[in-house]
Amino acid sequence: MNRSYFDEEEAFLEAVEQRYRLKQADEWIFQKYLYDFLKMTNLPLPLRERLAGGWDIIPLKVADRQRSGDGSTAKTLYETADGLFVESVLMGYEDRKTLCVSTQVGCRNKCRFCATGTRGLTRDLTAGEIMGQILNDSPLTNIVFMGMGEPLDNLSQLIKALRLLNHPDKMNFGARRITISTVGIPDGIRALADENRQYGLSWSLHAPTDDLRSTLIPVNRRYPINEVMAAMKEYGRRTGGSLTLEYILLKGVNDAPELARATASLARMLNAKVNLIPYNAHPYADYERPGTEAVQAFSGILQAEGLVATVRESKGNDIDAACGQLAGRHH
Ligand code: SAH
Repeated sequence: MNRSYFDEEEAFLEAVEQRYRLKQADEWIFQKYLYDFLKMTNLPLPLRERLAGGWDIIPLKVADRQRSGDGSTAKTLYETADGLFVESVLMGYEDRKTLCVSTQVGCRNKCRFCATGTRGLTRDLTAGEIMGQILNDSPLTNIVFMGMGEPLDNLSQLIKALRLLNHPDKMNFGARRITISTVGIPDGIRALADENRQYGLSWSLHAPTDDLRSTLIPVNRRYPINEVMAAMKEYGRRTGGSLTLEYILLKGVNDAPELARATASLARMLNAKVNLIPYNAHPYADYERPGTEAVQAFSGILQAEGLVATVRESKGNDIDAACGQLAGRHH
């Protein structure tokens, strides 16, 4: 099995002997989007051959790539070196190219409406595997950690990848163009604040009361709303990164007008935008998406309360690439 460049930097340094060789490789990777050691023509040929034989820059194989009917979305299925599957979703807007990346194979948070958690957590992805998804579709304008897994349950590899993305000598990707989406883990949010970067932070609220939220998101019993609110507030204050509340709309479950008002008051306390996501159907849950009128009514209440509320037009529904539909490969 080949070694992974971003996961074993120390061993790589030993293999190339001099640090400037690593810098040369990084220039090819981050400035030319070239991931083949053999083609790094300013490295000596024997070294190139040795590296190509033993090292991977992207430690993933593309197992499948599907495009949505309208061509705006592409879902890539990757196979890891140990035979596991993860997915990433590329969304092209007019002047933007956003990649939704996975951080885990599966997820331990069994949110009732989400396909990813149905089989539990298999393992964390490494920083190299996270970077691999990103490099494969680079250059990008935006990166969202909203694919399979809970990013803050894989904090060390998430932070390692974020530093590689943001560092001026590495990808030099602006923190404000990166968003991390979390179920809401207070210690993880504070650890991210310690990075002192303006990464956008999205909290998957989905219900503004603990009773209702706990029925949808089991981990709410451990980290109730007020504790996550405190951590989010601290994140915003310490980093200046923008905050968003995500709110999936489930027909007859969490779409009542009084819940919109309660959500508005939480958003106001955080100075956060609200992103509404009408439920995307999949075989692992039996919720329904509310009608357009109910969605408009909910967002109308938020807007009337002076908040910025957007409805996420989930891309790639026809190829099961929309939020909550990523399941890797079920056997
Ligand atoms: N673990 C992270 C990332 C998850 S996926 C988190 O919890 O935020 C990104 C978003 O899609 C989350 O807000 C998630 O709750 C939402 N989501 C999950 N299943 C969905 C579904 N079936 N329809 C629409 N959104 C869904």
